[in-house]
Amino acid sequence: EPLIKLTNVWKIYQMGEVEFAALKGINLEIYEGEFLIILGPSGSGKSTMMNLLGCLDIPSKGTVCLNSKDISELDESELAIIRGQMIGFIFQSFNLLSTLSTEENVLLPMEFQEDDRQMARQKASYLLDIVGLSNKKGNLPSQLSGGQKQRVAIARSLAVNPPIILADEPTGNLDSKTGDYILDFLDGLHQRDGKTIIIVTHDIELVRYATRVVYIRDGEIEKIETRSKNEPDM
Ligand code: ADP
Ligand code: ADP
Repeated sequence: EPLIKLTNVWKIYQMGEVEFAALKGINLEIYEGEFLIILGPSGSGKSTMMNLLGCLDIPSKGTVCLNSKDISELDESELAIIRGQMIGFIFQSFNLLSTLSTEENVLLPMEFQEDDRQMARQKASYLLDIVGLSNKKGNLPSQLSGGQKQRVAIARSLAVNPPIILADEPTGNLDSKTGDYILDFLDGLHQRDGKTIIIVTHDIELVRYATRVVYIRDGEIEKIETRSKNEPDM
């Protein structure tokens, strides 16, 4: 059984009288343990795809199933619960709360799931240690570098130990060395911890990490390529 299954998925945006189809009949199955990269140029429908894969939005037509459950049949609170259990999100813009410290940002997803405060703090400590930020617990996001902010976001995404990590241009705001460090870290989560990683990006450099690459263009899948890891490009 696939973790996520898209069947004939359309996303149509309505702008007044005008309709625009951002996704046109996407069929895709994502399995546990994949490192999947969805690659496409600007405007190809990547963010739209990310929103659907992350159950942040529902399709206009067709079905998105997470764990064999059709997400269109869930109400907003059921969706929030299944999203919380299944998916850790990482965004290009980090999406950290600027008034909260590093530690508080990591604690945030646990507020809803971990009623033992002491346990939650231990877990946050452990996660900040893993991403190498133990000494920045009390810092605000404005007091961190780009790479450090993204590492806080990764620690936060791991807080509820979700099987899927979904990242939207995770290296988009980072220099290439820091970007490599972040991708190597995600690669470790894939190889050591068996996490399913899904990255949505326009950056072809990232395909070397993938077990499968889905090329999208103008809202359609152009081709799908299965790779053995770290094989050279072209
Ligand atoms: P990408 O992330 O690959 O740049 P998007 O998924 O953001 O692509 O957008 C795909 C297409 O859908 C683009 O042509 C964009 O202009 C259009 N689009 C995205 N969001 C909206 C929206 N809310 N309303 C209307 N059109 C949109
Ligand atoms: P910047 O965003 O300014 O590049 P980083 O937070 O990414 O700063 O850290 C700078 C460099 O230190 C990184 O490029 C990385 O190679 C190295 N580094 C940071 N944290 C660790 C770590 N936990 N383990 C190994 N190397 C690290």
